[in-house]
Amino acid sequence: MSFLDFFKKKESSFQQPEPTNNSSARDLSGILNSVGVGLIIIDENDCLLELNESSMGYLGLSKNTIGSKAVEVIKSVDLINLIKQVKESTNQVEEISGTHAGDKNFLVSATYDEENQETQIVMMDTTRSNRLESVRRDFITNLSHELRTPVSVIRANSESLIDGALEDEETAKKFSTAILRNAEKLTRLLSDILNLSTLESGEYTLDIRSTNVTPIINNVVSNLKEANPSIDMQVTINEDLMVMCDIQAFEQVMTNLIENGIKYGTTDNSNTLSIGAKPVGQKMRFEIEDKGQGIPPGERKRVFERFYRVQEKEVLENSGTGLGLSIVKNLVHLMDGSVGNEQAHPNGTIFWFTLNIE
Ligand code: ADP
Repeated sequence: MSFLDFFKKKESSFQQPEPTNNSSARDLSGILNSVGVGLIIIDENDCLLELNESSMGYLGLSKNTIGSKAVEVIKSVDLINLIKQVKESTNQVEEISGTHAGDKNFLVSATYDEENQETQIVMMDTTRSNRLESVRRDFITNLSHELRTPVSVIRANSESLIDGALEDEETAKKFSTAILRNAEKLTRLLSDILNLSTLESGEYTLDIRSTNVTPIINNVVSNLKEANPSIDMQVTINEDLMVMCDIQAFEQVMTNLIENGIKYGTTDNSNTLSIGAKPVGQKMRFEIEDKGQGIPPGERKRVFERFYRVQEKEVLENSGTGLGLSIVKNLVHLMDGSVGNEQAHPNGTIFWFTLNIE
């Protein structure tokens, strides 16, 4: 039985009362719709003969358009061209866009059945897989770019040392320091990438339970204060603040946000960070406020993207991988919270995240 005969049987089964021998045909229609595959059949006069639910959705058509000329009702120029071409080549597979379904892309397979003089079209929504592919490609491009810079600095400085810079103690120290700084950057980058890929692969399991986060915050603050004694950190957190979280994930989120406050929150050699928490409905809202230059409004959301760094001199001079906030976003979402940032007044940034109280 050809695909078309099979489909026709299936369609006739809808007009008849429950013929048991057609249950597989019903299954086919159900399967096609449930996996979002569109099916269109066009007859020898170029009129629509059959449409399933998915294809109607994709093309913005209704059952009433059955019988109309395909060229008059289908708005996608790509699809119409494909329908015309397939009569000459019997089978065509193409990616098309510009349908009723906005900016979606479809993989369309068109077959011309010479015996019945009918065109059968199967269309699959490939928007999501295309997007994932482009995210993957961007990630690899960014990663190779980020790796190339420290590696080439290490290489150039080592070559200079070998070529004679070792003779001069001061120059040798300068080159060696640059090598060390860039090796540290590579280590940070690799560790962030590992963390992020574990998080995104879904392999990272969190142990979310009601936790007293006050000692965790105090601990993070005192560790970071030890490493940055000039930073004034004011913590306004109640004792025994209980929220639903994973201890390590909470610690990582706090560390990344406070470290950013330290890195980007300095103006005129002074840096005051405020760390606080307040209940908002069923959630606890944590805030880390700095008095730095702030983030341009158009880039507030973008800073959570992988590798995104605000292209300003002060930012680029700071060692960073552009991955810290992506890790924060992933962890907060895994703990059923939200995260964002807003402008502080008169200057600076407030990074906030929320977690469930119960
Ligand atoms: P990194 O700090 O390693 O560059 P992040 O993902 O932590 O990566 O941050 C991404 C970018 O967001 C930073 O490069 C910086 O441009 C911006 N950013 C983050 N935190 C702040 C802050 N507190 N104030 C101003 N800009 C910030």
